[in-house]
Amino acid sequence: MADTPGRRIALVTGAGRGIGQAICAALAARGDTVVAADIDGDLAAATAREAGNGSIGIELDVGDRAAVDDVVEDTEDRVGPIAILVNNAGINRDAMLHKMTDDQWHAVLAVDLSAVFYTVRAVGRHMRQHGYGRIVNISSASWMGNIGQTNYAAAKAGVVGLTRSVAKELARFHITANAVCPGFIDTDMTRGLPAEIYRAQLDRIPLGRAGVPQDVAEVVAFLSSDSAEYVTGEVIAVGGGYTL
Ligand code: NAP
Repeated sequence: MADTPGRRIALVTGAGRGIGQAICAALAARGDTVVAADIDGDLAAATAREAGNGSIGIELDVGDRAAVDDVVEDTEDRVGPIAILVNNAGINRDAMLHKMTDDQWHAVLAVDLSAVFYTVRAVGRHMRQHGYGRIVNISSASWMGNIGQTNYAAAKAGVVGLTRSVAKELARFHITANAVCPGFIDTDMTRGLPAEIYRAQLDRIPLGRAGVPQDVAEVVAFLSSDSAEYVTGEVIAVGGGYTL
């Protein structure tokens, strides 16, 4: 299937639930064909079915560099040129610094930072050749630092540095790269928090409610559209004022 104007191919990671699922729905609704990738292939397939518009679900562990390379090559060969890359897959393994294990550190750095490098490198090579691209990396308000999240904050701050560097390096190929930093969004990731921490997070939000995945998806849809062609290297908070 060849790409045609108005029907672009978007690769979205961590697409099985939460924010990733909402991003797939938003992109498909405005006409993109989504390759929905998740470590759980069944969830990815369900997301793609629901999104429609010829979207495809695939199983992909973004921490597996060889698998990332294979999926990108396969998508370019069999689906079409990837116009949009959304790095959304993420995990957290929170612990106070003095209790944080090496495993917790490495697991989060692998999925939340190294994987972003793998996908951007693999897709970026093709985008350079196509002379077009929209890269949106999901960071977090925590990139500025958060108690119990030394690993997660380090990874998400790394995503900001990576994104800004990529934006500078690839601008001459008409490729934009931006980071989106959700604040406190109601998903499985946050629903697992102890009740008192959940309430304390809500109290921090000037707009008075937790975000929903669609709040983030709308911003990603804009940044990955042609309307955002003059926006690159930005770090955009979507948190109802969470970081004010
Ligand atoms: P979520 O509900 O936990 O969904 C994350 C998705 O990523 C899940 O489907 C998960 O699959 C998948 N995933 C995990 N590891 C993966 C891997 N190695 N390869 C491929 N897919 C993988 O999380 P979310 O709240 O939607 O978060 C999405 C992104 O937003 C993350 O990058 C997160 O750090 C960021 N974020 C979220 C919030 C928030 O308040 N929710 C705030 C700031 C930033 P399984 O569930 O099957 O493991």
